[in-house]
Amino acid sequence: MSDTSFLQALAVSKTYPGERVAGVKRISLNIKPQKITAIIGESGSGKSTLLRLLYGLLSPDDGRVLFKGERIWGPEEKLIPGHDAMKMVTQDTDGLNLYAKVWDNIAVLMPNTDVSAKEERTSQVLQQLNILKLASKQAFFLSGGEKQRVAIARALITRPEVLLLDEPFNQVDTSFREGLQQDIRQIVHDTGLTVIMVSHDPAEVLSMADELIVLKDGEIIEAGHPKTLYQAPQNLYTAKLLTNCNVLSQANAALCGISTKAADVVIYPEWAAPTGSWTRKDWTVKQVLFKGNHEDLLVNKGDITLRVLNDEPDKYKLGDKVHIKINKYLAFDN
Ligand code: ADP
Ligand code: MG
Repeated sequence: MSDTSFLQALAVSKTYPGERVAGVKRISLNIKPQKITAIIGESGSGKSTLLRLLYGLLSPDDGRVLFKGERIWGPEEKLIPGHDAMKMVTQDTDGLNLYAKVWDNIAVLMPNTDVSAKEERTSQVLQQLNILKLASKQAFFLSGGEKQRVAIARALITRPEVLLLDEPFNQVDTSFREGLQQDIRQIVHDTGLTVIMVSHDPAEVLSMADELIVLKDGEIIEAGHPKTLYQAPQNLYTAKLLTNCNVLSQANAALCGISTKAADVVIYPEWAAPTGSWTRKDWTVKQVLFKGNHEDLLVNKGDITLRVLNDEPDKYKLGDKVHIKINKYLAFDN
């Protein structure tokens, strides 16, 4: 089977009843099997709509969604909505029985025909999601992150080929998120699962995704490897989604020594560095934001404020005069 025929959308459009603007417009994509594809976009850009179309929870008005070359049935055509080879996990963990133990919440989804297979598979997914030690705990007492792990274990127990995640980590503490993200990567690596995830957390999509799709107003505006999209985005919109970047008008860019015909100039914080030893110290430190191993400095010149990365914490204090060296920028007309 070639990559192109795993999960495909062909010019898919969907407008919700009574809405004037389309949820998604003429979307075509090829999901690569056994990889993590992340979909990012601002709120209302059509991420959840696209995910539901891929899963078969919504029928497209136009175009087709194909899984291994076969059209995915919509909710009108299927008794239990959603493609049988896929499972979806969202933020809400309502499917959990809070009065039952973690083990039972997961095992209940396996048939009783082969009890030893059921036990073996349940303990395997508990292990994959690092929740074996919670097996006999009542779901009621779990943290948000633990509940999310159980929800994913429930989705995976029947070995779906595709796992769809719609911003499932929003309720999970940042410190626990990374572990869960790593575990999902490991599962993809070990089992060949295909993951399609929606997220608006740049750190999450950059570290997890093999392929990134950027949605704006229901359309794909660019797609590619996260590193490529981060380092060389084709759109200002993409840069803003992926970084806490500085956006300067042409006139303000000129005041920073950048001459361009483009409308907007983007400077990532790590592309601008303070240097104290220069004579032309025309920037003033307005804020020092401690980030652990580095600081973000907000520096100011006239009307212009720049966020710049300083990897020598404590070197500068409020009111210090500094020179800012801009090492790289992007210019955009869109
Ligand atoms: P996202 O997940 O990126 O926030 P959605 O796919 O939920 O975006 O929504 C895309 C567009 O479709 C938005 O304009 C939204 O208001 C609209 N929309 C989403 N769900 C519905 C619905 N059930 N009924 C009507 N409009 C909807
Ligand atoms: Mg959504």
